[in-house]
Amino acid sequence: MTTGFSAVDLRRMLSSLRDVMAGAGSVQERLDKTVALIAKGLRADVCSCYVMRAGEVLELFATFGLSQTAVHLTRLRVGEGLVGEIAAHANPVALADAWSHPQFVYRPETGEDFFRSLMGVPMLQAGRVIGVLVVQTREQRPFNDWEVETLETVAMVIAELIAASQVVKREELFQTEGNALIAPRLTGVTLVPGVGIGLAVMHKPHVRIGRIVSDDPAVEEQRLDKALATLRTEVDAMIDGAHGDTTLYGDILEVYRMFADDRGWISRIMEAIGSGLTAEAAVQKVHDDTRVRMQQVSDPILRERLQDLDDLANRLLNILAGGGMRVELPENAILVCRSIGPTELIDYDRRKLRGLVMEEGSPTMHAVVVAKALDIPVVAQVQGALQRIDALDVVVLDADAGQIIIRPSDEVIELTSAAVEARARRKAAYAERKDLPSVTLDGHTVGLYLNAGFLIDMQAITETNAAGIGLYRTEMPFLSLPTIPDVKTQQALYRQVVEAAGARPVTFRTLDVGGDKIAASTFAMQEDNPAMGWRSIRLTLDRPSLLRQQLRALVSATEGATLRVMFPMIASVAEFATARDILNREVARHRQSGAQGPSEIKVGTMLEVPSLLWQLDELMRHVDFISVGSNDLMQFLYAVDRGNTRVASRYDTLSPPMLRVLHAIITKCDAAGVEASICGEIAGQPLEALALVALGFRNLSMSASGIGPVRGMIRSLRLEAARSYVKTLLAAEVSTVRENLRAFARDHAIALQ
Ligand code: PEP
Ligand code: MG
Repeated sequence: MTTGFSAVDLRRMLSSLRDVMAGAGSVQERLDKTVALIAKGLRADVCSCYVMRAGEVLELFATFGLSQTAVHLTRLRVGEGLVGEIAAHANPVALADAWSHPQFVYRPETGEDFFRSLMGVPMLQAGRVIGVLVVQTREQRPFNDWEVETLETVAMVIAELIAASQVVKREELFQTEGNALIAPRLTGVTLVPGVGIGLAVMHKPHVRIGRIVSDDPAVEEQRLDKALATLRTEVDAMIDGAHGDTTLYGDILEVYRMFADDRGWISRIMEAIGSGLTAEAAVQKVHDDTRVRMQQVSDPILRERLQDLDDLANRLLNILAGGGMRVELPENAILVCRSIGPTELIDYDRRKLRGLVMEEGSPTMHAVVVAKALDIPVVAQVQGALQRIDALDVVVLDADAGQIIIRPSDEVIELTSAAVEARARRKAAYAERKDLPSVTLDGHTVGLYLNAGFLIDMQAITETNAAGIGLYRTEMPFLSLPTIPDVKTQQALYRQVVEAAGARPVTFRTLDVGGDKIAASTFAMQEDNPAMGWRSIRLTLDRPSLLRQQLRALVSATEGATLRVMFPMIASVAEFATARDILNREVARHRQSGAQGPSEIKVGTMLEVPSLLWQLDELMRHVDFISVGSNDLMQFLYAVDRGNTRVASRYDTLSPPMLRVLHAIITKCDAAGVEASICGEIAGQPLEALALVALGFRNLSMSASGIGPVRGMIRSLRLEAARSYVKTLLAAEVSTVRENLRAFARDHAIALQ
């Protein structure tokens, strides 16, 4: 298999493999023939196929060259030996001298004493490792990339054979806990709270590939071109809102347009077609490769791009398969999936969706953004969901408790139905009272604003009757993109935001990338301490063209209207002054071109870095408004990583130190006549909001779900009493005043939900 193995050889081998697979005989016989064919085709002495069995064990299923008595006897745990290593990392291994590798495990029963070199690749099915394919040679020799790629292509073919023939039952393939009985209860992480009950619908994005080996690469290339053209048309139509209200998803779908045009992606698929695969098999192969590579990446944002890629590849596969992916839902459906892309979720009838269960998933993935905006409860990271839940099982999804109950008893169904109804009643009550002013019993008005980051969030403005958008996180739709879009694209997006807000103000925050929000590969770099590293305003001041372009887009998008813009992570007044200066220059430039520009411009800062606390006097002279980012302020004040659940509940925001800081800020702002608001998560929690209003804050910005409860709290509050009480708490020598405040609320009949 050294020199001279060409694309033609590969095609010939694939074609023989196809004949074997389609031929007569048991699966075992066909696998035996297959490994012999591969060994011969690749001029290797050994070819072995290991298949993943229950309990994460890899079993030698077929071999050419090793002892036949070892078949179904030799077993390796994932992570054990070189084969286990390949499965554990889903990465190929190619070693001239396998014996000297520290991971090498000698299994005497296989008789592998004579084979020095080893090359192995994972066998993947829908992105999961279902086995390992290995070749070995007697002669000690290196393997090149082409050989590794060849083996990967062959592995894909065998993976299909194994999956299609159900050599191993599907549940056994993916089971990790032996033969445990179906558990009635599964737990996960709450991504969108709520409760739902319905029949399980298994979301099956994986399109079955009929043919793997092609007869004519030229025909397959044409099929791919045609499918790509259809894909682009579909995506454009979705972005332009041709499918109902999909304009609301325009910013989320922008990523598809970029991927659909990505030259690298397309040329990799073409290459795979060139090696003898059909168009769909080529799409699947490139997709599996990317998926595996992306899964190795620890950066959560980059991993999330995977969902979008998954979604796009599935769409393309579906087009190649002739369409018809849409599934009809029962009246009440709980969707169960490993992961889901936003367009796939949008494709379902949302009126029938009562919940979403995912085996993977994270809070910022696009499908979750969509689910949140549509108020569909989501529980994610539910291990074993696909194995333990069967289609049309009755499922109770209690996202508030982060759990799923499968085939619940009548009692549980009754209790859950009551909870669903109670929630619906509460929601209806908030909606009914949305037009009531958010004024305290003693006449103090509190402005309730929304935090938003996607166009789809804007629909909540009318649903909640919020006073405006207090924080528009502009980076959100760009996090999945390979680059930040150009001025024109940004301007169009901001214009849509302004229009969706109507007469209500929108406070745009400039790009807050880096830290836990690394914008794709453009800025991805390893930092020991990313939250305190090159992020946010630091990054955009160092890359001023980025900031200039964004401000240019904002200035032209707010032509004739008010532009409110603020800068994130400001740590010194000088940084603010520099950023404001860049804005001033953009405004001047805009006006020089003959345009009128925004009718009014207000420039503010986020206050989230404690160093600003000692520059407040100076800061007040520079800013039009400030917005307290309590999420980051808390993180830096207490040196507590906001994303680390181990320390998350160690310190309380309702603690005297934090309350003193907030009090100092609002006191300074009031004295200087600078408008202040607070836009961290605490603003949307009634008890915390009570403390904030008592401290003097009159503008709170929060996610949509917080507005109803906080409005209720304010309308039941007598501010003067709360103000005096909270003042006493400022001096308390305790680590939290949460219970004191709760007791106060109880005693004064303040509504906390
Ligand atoms: C904050 O830090 O409180 C804030 C609102 O900004 P983000 O959550 O986007 O960092
Ligand atoms: Mg922040």
